[in-house]
Amino acid sequence: MRIAIDPGHWSPGEPGAVGHGGTTEAAITMAVSKLIEQKLVDLGHIVTLTHFGEPDDYDANDLWPRVQRAIEWGADCFVSIHCNGADSMQAHGFETFCLRGGDDSLQNRVHDSVIASMSITDRGKKQAGFAVLKGPFPSVLIELDFITNPVVEGQLIDPAYQQQFADAIAAGIVG
Ligand SMILES: [Zn+2]
Repeated sequence: MRIAIDPGHWSPGEPGAVGHGGTTEAAITMAVSKLIEQKLVDLGHIVTLTHFGEPDDYDANDLWPRVQRAIEWGADCFVSIHCNGADSMQAHGFETFCLRGGDDSLQNRVHDSVIASMSITDRGKKQAGFAVLKGPFPSVLIELDFITNPVVEGQLIDPAYQQQFADAIAAGIVG
């Protein structure tokens, strides 16, 4: 399978949500995306990232060019990685989005895999109209957990915890 992984946001241009300890969403999404890529390659799949967080990668600031790159590359599916943010420092949990009214097969596999293998609050399978979900292939946007929760922020920067997420997400992708 040809799998496009989209590391949500990008540093330094648009870092996304920021934890109270200063961790950026972009740093976590890139780290976890690279771990997912490695896991999928180990499993024999072909993987691309939609961007590499390079300062001259101007298109990374826009969402549709990421999908366009995946289309031109010939992706069979598209997985966008994000961390959530909230005003409440207590907010926590895992959630996924598919396109409203769209194909939810990839969402179901990834969501169920993470919930089955990690001890994390299930905030549910949701639908939205995000641009990155509008490609012509099964797509899912994953909110790993809330980077604005200090306890969660400590988990998200732990490479072993990132690996747990990557393994569970990769297992769901390949189903
Ligand atoms: Zn995000």
